[in-house]
Amino acid sequence: MNSSMIGKIEKAHRYAKEPERVRIDSLQTTFHGSHDDYRVGLQDGQWSCSCHAFSSHALGTCAHVMALQQLLAPMLEPDVRYSTEYTADLEPVGALN
Ligand SMILES: [Zn+2]
Repeated sequence: MNSSMIGKIEKAHRYAKEPERVRIDSLQTTFHGSHDDYRVGLQDGQWSCSCHAFSSHALGTCAHVMALQQLLAPMLEPDVRYSTEYTADLEPVGALN
């Protein structure tokens, strides 16, 4: 392996420890929930989920969206990091520490 590639790999290792360098603009996921698999996505600042709770309540969120917000918090714009007041009181798990 040439030294240029070694340097890139070392840089990648450093970057991987700094998730705040990455900004997720959109994504599509399959979320393996307790009862079923759901399609959870982020597009144009709007979260979506195919689960019943997301579509039947006007909360704009569900457990799957909130879980992804916690997982990805350092890489999300602040206005999509939390959906509603329901999550505002929670510690941003893993966000900035
Ligand atoms: Zn859901």
